[in-house]
Amino acid sequence: MLASKLPNVGTTIFTRMSQLAAEIGALNLSQGFPDFDGPLALREAVSRHVLAGHNQYAPMTGLPTLRQQVAAKIARCYGVQRDANSEITITPGATEAIFCAVQALIRPGDEAIVLDPCYDSYEPSVELAGGRCVHVPLALPDFSVDWQRLAEAINERTRLIFLNSPHNPSGALLSRSDLEQLAALIRGRDIHIISDEVYEHLIYDGVQHASVLAHEELYARAFVVSSFGKTYHVTGWKTGYVVAPPVLTAELRKIHQYVNFCGVTPLQWALADFMAECPQHVEELPSFYQAKRDLFCELLGGSRFAFRPTPGTYFQLADYSAIRPELDDVAMAEWLTREHGVAAIPVSVFYREPPTDMRLVRFCFAKREDTLRQAAERLCRV
Ligand code: PMP
Ligand code: GLN
Repeated sequence: MLASKLPNVGTTIFTRMSQLAAEIGALNLSQGFPDFDGPLALREAVSRHVLAGHNQYAPMTGLPTLRQQVAAKIARCYGVQRDANSEITITPGATEAIFCAVQALIRPGDEAIVLDPCYDSYEPSVELAGGRCVHVPLALPDFSVDWQRLAEAINERTRLIFLNSPHNPSGALLSRSDLEQLAALIRGRDIHIISDEVYEHLIYDGVQHASVLAHEELYARAFVVSSFGKTYHVTGWKTGYVVAPPVLTAELRKIHQYVNFCGVTPLQWALADFMAECPQHVEELPSFYQAKRDLFCELLGGSRFAFRPTPGTYFQLADYSAIRPELDDVAMAEWLTREHGVAAIPVSVFYREPPTDMRLVRFCFAKREDTLRQAAERLCRV
């Protein structure tokens, strides 16, 4: 019998809820992905490049033209120059970037700190490297960092702290002053950062993203990860990138070249073309998604769910204490799917030790207006 290296891991909640939604024919507001397509010009560019014969391996580090577009976008958005050759690597999804960064940083016996609730891929990546995750809960109700608890969790085995802003599942944002606090906390220690910024362009109400890319002291020890899937409405393309100082990038690439070697070639060509032709796409994203958030929240205002409009990501948390407080959130998500035809994600699954009184589910509002209207109508009847 093979002894599992990940004995506590099953099939992810995203897969399970999407499967259940499909089985039942429920509106799927669970797994995070748009139910509309990415820009037509971007999709046409893929066909063009496939037909033009761009079908063999891309360079291991990513197409130079795409890396240059990413560098240009970073310069525009955050006012910093990151070198396309030595600091930017294109990866098959942010997930692979995170995995490779963890393998580069963690050795047996090392500890990595995750802030719960946290994205599900972090812990298995750390465990496969022989490390251990230390879970520090974010402070409720706004999912802010509890600096005291974070400071207490750091010890001589701590090698890595994961950040995720905008935060999945809560939408919470780290501010520039949070980054200052973190920098002060780890100054002089051998601790690195993986900053998961896949929702960097999904921030609302005029707030600016505080990227680790624009914080020189933190960036010096960071891998900053993003995903074209989120930014261009093409999650199924599984194409992302990681930005890190040259020494860290060199170590990441040693691993990336044996995990995947390279990302998918025609997708990289298409993204490079589209980023050059349509640089305003990223500037338009906040208002595009804010309109969806506002519509969904306005409609949900007629329901018994309690919520505050999310500051970032395409996820809206909703408290169902006034509806079925006796159900835990996994049971609630299943009940909503089966009985009311709207699939959601329970929030407790993002925790090692979920607060026992937590009654939150997550809805994804990256959906067409008619999907949001139908879903809200059903949720108002709950
Ligand atoms: N991090 C977070 C917080 C996410 O929500 C996602 C999306 N599933 C990822 C990483 C992975 O992104 P990708 O699909 O590009 O691997
Ligand atoms: N990030 C997506 C979410 O949070 C899920 C991606 C996946 O299924 N791995 O819903």
